[in-house]
Parts: sequence; structure tokens; C-alpha cells
Amino acid sequence: MGRVDLVGGGPGPADLMTVRAHRLLMEADVVVADRLGPFEELRSHLGAGVEVIDVGKRPGHHPVPQDEINALLVHHARAGRRVVRLKGGDPFVFGRGGEEVLACQAAGIPVTVTPGVSSAISVPQAAGIPVTHRGVSAALHVVNGQGELTPSALASMADPAVTTVVLMGVAAIPRLAAIALASSVPSTTPVAIVENGHTAVQRTIRSTVGTIVADAEEADVINPAVIVIGEVAREGLLLPTAEMLAESSA
Ligand code: SAH
Repeated sequence: MGRVDLVGGGPGPADLMTVRAHRLLMEADVVVADRLGPFEELRSHLGAGVEVIDVGKRPGHHPVPQDEINALLVHHARAGRRVVRLKGGDPFVFGRGGEEVLACQAAGIPVTVTPGVSSAISVPQAAGIPVTHRGVSAALHVVNGQGELTPSALASMADPAVTTVVLMGVAAIPRLAAIALASSVPSTTPVAIVENGHTAVQRTIRSTVGTIVADAEEADVINPAVIVIGEVAREGLLLPTAEMLAESSA
């Protein structure tokens, strides 16, 4: 009997994985990987006999459906292999890791989960934005931009003491902004969009709820990006920002 290890890969760079995540990856017989995360950088470090299965979404290609991913994990573990399911960020933050755990348990396959550095916190940080900051923001609300904006998400956006972080939100910016403005979210609420966090092409767009649609369109924002709504997204909260430091040391 093999086993399945769900492993958080962090937001991109291999050295933002945990030591345990890296060890499990190097011990794997089969790696089932997503597009996001450190995978491309680590691929060449895997042993020659390791089977790599790419199930991530790429432009122009459909992702492998979740039930097929579950079946793949179970199939390879039943064949006696050590399977690492490598995911971007943390497996349990919009990563469907819970479904994979349930599928393994239902099949009687031993399964572990290793946490990862989630983009929800680490991507704002890469742009110099602390998701909480004493005297500015005392709470964090993380939402999926592809879903509906619940009353609690709108309340968090309207509350100046709460930071709202939206993942998978780029395509939904016009819808999200319209709903927020139609609710009681002030149009002056700061917004930052951090694109390709922790990569060489990281970029931050600063705006407000009232102007974000035009600003995101003008900047031609692309995935992956994290949207931060709240006072911590205001330009100049921390000076100099991480990006300014990176530029000055380049
Ligand atoms: N489990 C992941 C999130 C998966 S949802 C985690 O914990 O980070 C995928 C979303 O994560 C993307 O749409 C984007 O909003 C965000 N994301 C992941 N990596 C990112 C990166 N390097 N830069 C910006 N956003 C990123």
C-alpha cells in the first residue's frame, strides 16, 4: 500500500516551501502537480524515475476534473507508490485539498497534509502590504472572487478595520466593484492588486473601489493576482515597500 501526501507548494519560489514539503516531494514516486506554485523550478530536481502528472490549468487547456484527480491519487497509491499532490499555496485554502483527503479516506489510502505559505497572506506581503496592522486592520476576510459576494464579505469590505483579500478575482473585478459600490462600501476604500507575487514580474496596481475597474483595465491585469481591499492597501502604509527595496537592491 502506498500513500498520498498533500503538499503546499507556496506562492512560487521553491525556497518558500516548507522543509517538510520539499522532503516529501523529493521522496515521491509520483507527483501530481498544479500550474501555480514552485513546480517548474523543482521539476529538474526530481529523480529520473519519478512520474510527473500535470493536472493544472494552462491557457487553452482544460484542467483535469477533480474526480479524475482524486481517482489518479487513489490509483497510484493502490499500486504501492508514494504520491505527492503538490498544490500552489496551502492545500486547504481554495485548493480542494479537503476533497482529496476525503477521496483517499474513502478508498482506505493513508493520507497526510503539509501546509503551505498561502498567497492570501504572502502575496500582499510581497508588495509591502501587511494583511493586519496594529491600529489599521484587526481582521482578515478571504474570499473567492468567482463566487457570490456574501453579506459577510460585503460587511468586511465596508468595515475600515477589516482587510478583505480576494483570490481568483481578476475576471470578476467589474462585478465585484459594482456590488460593493451598490452596497455600503465607500468608493474611496483603497484597493491593491498584486499580480504574479513573489516572481520577477511581480506588479502592484493601487486604486480604490470607485476606480478599480478602469485602473485594472488600463493596467491590463492578468492572473494570477491577489486583490486586497481595505486601509492596509493604501500606498505608503509601510515605507519603503518590499518592491522598492527589491528594486533598489537590483
Ligand atoms: N491554495 C492557494 C490558492 C489557490 S486559488 C493558496 O493558498 O495560495 C488560486 C489563486 O491564488 C489565484 O487566482 C490567485 O488569486 C492566487 N495566487 C496564487 N499564487 C499567486 C501568485 N504567485 N501571485 C498572485 N496571486 C496568486
